[in-house]
Amino acid sequence: MSDSMPLPQGQWPVLQPGWVWLCGAGPGDPGLLTLHALNALRQADVVIYDALVQEAILDWAPQAEHIYAGKRGGKPSAKQRDISLHLVDLARDGKRVLRLKGGDPFVFGRGGEEAQTLVQHGVPIRIIPGISAGIGGLAYAGIPVTHRDVNQSVTFVTGHDQSGNATGSLDWQAISKGSQVIVIYMGMKHIAHIAAQLLAAGRPLSEPVAIVTNATTEHQQVLETTLGTCVADIEAAGTEPPAIICVGRAAAMRQVLDWQGQMAGEAPRNLDPLGRGRPAESA
Ligand code: SAH
Repeated sequence: MSDSMPLPQGQWPVLQPGWVWLCGAGPGDPGLLTLHALNALRQADVVIYDALVQEAILDWAPQAEHIYAGKRGGKPSAKQRDISLHLVDLARDGKRVLRLKGGDPFVFGRGGEEAQTLVQHGVPIRIIPGISAGIGGLAYAGIPVTHRDVNQSVTFVTGHDQSGNATGSLDWQAISKGSQVIVIYMGMKHIAHIAAQLLAAGRPLSEPVAIVTNATTEHQQVLETTLGTCVADIEAAGTEPPAIICVGRAAAMRQVLDWQGQMAGEAPRNLDPLGRGRPAESA
């Protein structure tokens, strides 16, 4: 893709000096950026980006200074404060600031906190949503986050709180009862605890679980397992974060919808993993 590729005709917003745009970069694949994100990259003086933002995306802002604000897994919140105040300082210096965050800025990304700090300091903002890993990352693994035969609701949870501890505040009984599909961000560190809680809440040992690491990037890997065996399987496979964990029968749909495998020449493993007949025939 050439840097000079024009945006489609239309009124694209202008990133003014002294403004901060908080923007989602999607889960990895640069093609999953929005056009608003591209418009922002073209105009920024400074791009301040997180660990999960692919470096290739920064190539689309060659004119800008690139500042890494990476922070993985429950570091002290002072760091978050530093990032927010750094954004304030950059804006006050009259920079056009693009704050680029992985996925969607308002999904487990502390985008809300950063935006609030900016507003509290009188810095004008714009929010540009992005494709969250818990939706787009699963789609790249061939897993529909909702599927008519499986779930009428989906729950997004974070596997640990700000201090890196397992989220004691989550009511796993209620989540387990209320949501056939559970999508867990930042869940790898406490997967043993989470699986035990879900099993204790009555979910079956055989419940399908898919773990998608580095989703949508060239390093994407998918571990297909079950609630009963996931801890041992993760250990055996050496699966490392960043990972999205999908618990629920939607994960089994990968057996028919692993489109990346199919592009690589693999046959679908099972045309009807949920045993419901073909959707078009039972509509
Ligand atoms: N705002 C982001 C989430 C930030 S929290 C979003 O909307 O996607 C960081 C967590 O997101 C990671 O620990 C991991 O659980 C998940 N994540 C983000 N990008 C990912 C990717 N490419 N592959 C797998 N998991 C990802």
